[in-house]
Amino acid sequence: MDTRPIIIAIDGPAGAGKSTVSRVVAKRLGYLYLDTGAMYRAVALAAKTAGVDTKDHQALATLCNGLDISFDNATDPPAVLLNGQDVSAQIRTPEIDMLASCVSAIKAVREAMTGLQRKVAQEAREVVAEGRDMGTVVFPNARCKFFLTASPEERARRRYEELVQRGETIDKNAVAKEMEKRDQQDSTRSIAPLKPAPDAVIIDTTHLSIEEVVNKICETVASKISHRQK
Ligand code: C5P
Repeated sequence: MDTRPIIIAIDGPAGAGKSTVSRVVAKRLGYLYLDTGAMYRAVALAAKTAGVDTKDHQALATLCNGLDISFDNATDPPAVLLNGQDVSAQIRTPEIDMLASCVSAIKAVREAMTGLQRKVAQEAREVVAEGRDMGTVVFPNARCKFFLTASPEERARRRYEELVQRGETIDKNAVAKEMEKRDQQDSTRSIAPLKPAPDAVIIDTTHLSIEEVVNKICETVASKISHRQK
């Protein structure tokens, strides 16, 4: 019997629509939604709170080993818990955007988070995993892989709207610039860079609604995973 969990991997840059789409797909399929970006954000927040320099690899490795990062899936979207405390709002600021991108380039941090992500998946059995390296590194045997993209203008617009809705006062151009910098950092790092897996289905979401993207993904999943295979 195959004991490997069933993984739907959804990767892509910021603002491509991954989070909302992944959440809805997970709900439709009855799978667990795993937001791996939230984990890197939690590490970044922990480093900031503890005054750890994000360039100090050794200190970050020690910090990661002592962290308890988990999700409360009873709420929608799931609450992100850092050492038992709900940090969902604190990890979604522009400052943490950049800090998360910095800590995520460090080997010890990636090893710790990759281990945790695989453990969560093993326990949950059926998972929609969202991030940058789900299909390439963390779950190379995922049953279905998707890579969402959108034009830089559209991605910046979406991120700006999201921040405004959260009550942040921020300049639109600054959002676009920061996003470009973060994407550059995420795609050029030496470990687990942002890139589509060779077997990923690439979906340009620029002119698509959430519903349309969800339908496309669910159709592909249905054609690849029949109930009997599960
Ligand atoms: O997806 P989100 O914007 O929340 O991710 C925050 C940051 O975490 C990304 O910019 C990226 O640097 C990092 N990340 C990563 N690998 C993942 C998910 C996120 O490196 N699987």
